[in-house]
Amino acid sequence: MSMRELVVLGTSSAVPTKRRNHNGYFLRWDSHGILFDPGEGTQRQLRHAGISAHDVTRICVTHFHGDHSLGLPGVVQRIARDGVDHEVRVAFPAAGERYWRRLRHATAFNDTDVISEQPVSGEAAELPGESDLAVTALPLRHRIAAYGYRLAEPDGVRILAGALAARGITGPEVGRLKAGERVVDADGRVVELAEYSEVRRGQVFAFVMDTGVCDNAVRLAEGADMAVIESTYLEAEAALAEQYHHLTAARAGRIAAEAGVRTLVLTHFSERYGQGEDERFAEEAARHFGGRIVVAADLDRVPVPTRRR
Ligand SMILES: [Zn+2]
Repeated sequence: MSMRELVVLGTSSAVPTKRRNHNGYFLRWDSHGILFDPGEGTQRQLRHAGISAHDVTRICVTHFHGDHSLGLPGVVQRIARDGVDHEVRVAFPAAGERYWRRLRHATAFNDTDVISEQPVSGEAAELPGESDLAVTALPLRHRIAAYGYRLAEPDGVRILAGALAARGITGPEVGRLKAGERVVDADGRVVELAEYSEVRRGQVFAFVMDTGVCDNAVRLAEGADMAVIESTYLEAEAALAEQYHHLTAARAGRIAAEAGVRTLVLTHFSERYGQGEDERFAEEAARHFGGRIVVAADLDRVPVPTRRR
């Protein structure tokens, strides 16, 4: 069975706290390992989570504020040190390329050639690399150039094995039918794949970080099985959210509801909130959103919900 889960590495916003590291999120998706927004301390958080540099196949950076990118030097150098021999694609806003250059070569180390760069610009970008996953970046509304990411698995085909078996088609013949080959039943009649299959909807994951309310936040999360959406503030601090182009838990909930998300992961919390206030984030989001809500804590593991039928 394929393994799809979000491993939360850090959940603070501007500054880390005793219980919250800077941002960092690792999405394990079958053979892919996608690291989002490695903030300071990400290398050690990966160690705590039991994730190796070899597990990382792609890095997606939303923007070049320190809480989302100061961990890049450590992660890049660890990839080099551990001799990772597969390509690691790094997507980031092209407008912040000078920051990428500095972080990529922050100190002396034995460099690696497995890192490939995918600077993102414009109104939408399709990022190549995964044959079984469409990775899209859309601009968000923040104080500097920022992009959110959407990972979408293509739709597939689900075989209705029970109905096929009732017609006497089993075993290798099912595989041949699925492969588009000609299969006949015991009476010599051709079995049509369309009659014995249905569309298996591909799963979707969205990562929406550091933004004011905007249409692209909803577009990124459209129909997502899981969406990670920042909620720096509670509604009591809505004025601060407006001023600094961030979301509140209530606004994240509204975006998730509008987009039809299934599991909403709230994170990127301001250091002003203590542990006792976690529940308030869930309550605010739940006023607008009826799906599952996770108020993320460091080192949480959140499974991508099983496929909807
Ligand atoms: Zn931030």
